[in-house]
This record gives sequence, C-alpha cells and structure tokens, in this order.
Amino acid sequence: MEKPKSPKPAKMPRASAASAKKPALAPAKPGAARKPRARRVKIPYSPEEIREIFRRFSIQRPEPKGELEHVNPFTLVVAVALSAQATDAGVNKATRALFALADTPEKMLALGEERVRDLIKTIGLYRNKAKNVIALSQRLVDEFGGEVPLTREELVTLPGVGRKTANVVMSMAFGVPTLAVDTHVFRIGNRLRIAPGKTPDEVEAAFMRIIPEDYLFHAHHWLILHGRYCCKARKPECERCVIADLCKSPEKTCDVPAPLVELPAQVV
Ligand code: SF4
Repeated sequence: MEKPKSPKPAKMPRASAASAKKPALAPAKPGAARKPRARRVKIPYSPEEIREIFRRFSIQRPEPKGELEHVNPFTLVVAVALSAQATDAGVNKATRALFALADTPEKMLALGEERVRDLIKTIGLYRNKAKNVIALSQRLVDEFGGEVPLTREELVTLPGVGRKTANVVMSMAFGVPTLAVDTHVFRIGNRLRIAPGKTPDEVEAAFMRIIPEDYLFHAHHWLILHGRYCCKARKPECERCVIADLCKSPEKTCDVPAPLVELPAQVV
C-alpha cells in the first residue's frame, strides 16, 4: 500500500455529522477507533450528501476487499508492512512464495533474514523490510506468545508497524472499524475537500468525524478502490465516477454520475 506523498495544505470550510458497518469478526469497543485529534474545518458537503456518497460506494462494491494477499493476522501484518511505498500487486508477487514457507512468526525466524531478503528483493526497500520482518517476528514470539496483538497501542510497538499498518490490521484481521490513510485516501480527502488535512492523521480524524457509522467498516476499502481505479492521482476519470454530481472537487471534469451498478471484483 502506497504512502501519501506530498501533503497539500488544505483550507477547507467544517465537518458535518459523524456516524461502521458491523465488524465481520469481533466487535469494536465503543469509541475505540474514533479519536478525532485534528482541528475541525468546514467542508462543503451536507451530512445527507456524505451519506449518499457512501451509499453509492456500497452499491458499487457491497463486499470490498483489500488486495494484499494473506492467510492469517501474522501474514497480514507482514504484507502491510512490506507494502510501504510499494504496490499491492508487487507485494503479492513476493509474498506468495514467502508465506508458503513461513506463515507464523516462528517459521519466519527459522527462515532467517537472509532468506527473507532474498524472497522479497523485488520490493522497494527490501533490505530494511527484511530486517523488520525478522524483528517483528521475534517480538511477537518474545512478547505476545507468537500471536498478533489486538490493540493499536501494542501493534505500533512492532518494528516496521506504524499507525496506518495497525489500522489496516485492526480492521481486516480483527473487524475493528478504523480508517487507514494511504496515498489514495489522503488524496480523496483533500481533492474532494471532504476530509481535508495536511497529514494522514488529520485526514483520518476528518474522515472519522463524517463517515456515517453504518458505512465506516468498509469505508477504507471503498476509498482506496475509488482512488485506485477511478479518482486516479494524475487524472481523475470523472466520466466513470458514480459520485460526479455530488463531488465538489475543483479538479472534476464531469457533473453527470456514471450508472450505479455493482462492479466486478478487481484482480490484482
Ligand atoms: S468526480 Fe472526478 S474528482 Fe470527483 S470523485 Fe469522481 S473521479 Fe474524483
């Protein structure tokens, strides 16, 4: 998963209503994932417009899935940590062989740093990442009985795991509604002026304030997939966009929304 690039300053006008689809696996502690920390700025969307945006995303992709391949929480942590400044497709190519050999921290340690490095050498920053994979495996064995911890506070103590990785793991492995801000989510928040912020944390806090509760669980994937396949970085494909009539981006090139139909699953 790519990281946000250059944060754009955002002078936007005030967030409206807040309101997660039920976690698929384990329920979230009330309020655990909602921790607005950034200052509030006014946004040019009504609560009804925001709800309509997410309603349309939910029709396009009723069961959105992350595109990083993994077989358990441990391999998910490793895959997300490897995805910094890399594409999901590139990470998947490398991790298929890696996870076939090592799908637990113990097996990863037995594989050793050199072998891990060799298996992931097609991914950017692979030397450092191999070190982190071994270090985080060691920490999981030493401190957490070989299991991936459930809380953000514990997850971010793992080498190579930051807030974004922790949020992805909490959401995908444990069903806690969180919003990890990658380059696509960051761009959409600012481009649409819907959740503006200068940093990923500010954008996360802004989104967490406005996303209706019943749409929060899938919002992360909807936003990523919308950014990856439609509201693209270089040139948004507004004529293919189902929210073109609602979008208030100055970069928008079309006001007519695309037909609202369920999209076929993307193959990475
Ligand atoms: S209308 Fe264009 S700019 Fe707005 S969300 Fe859709 S693709 Fe992005």
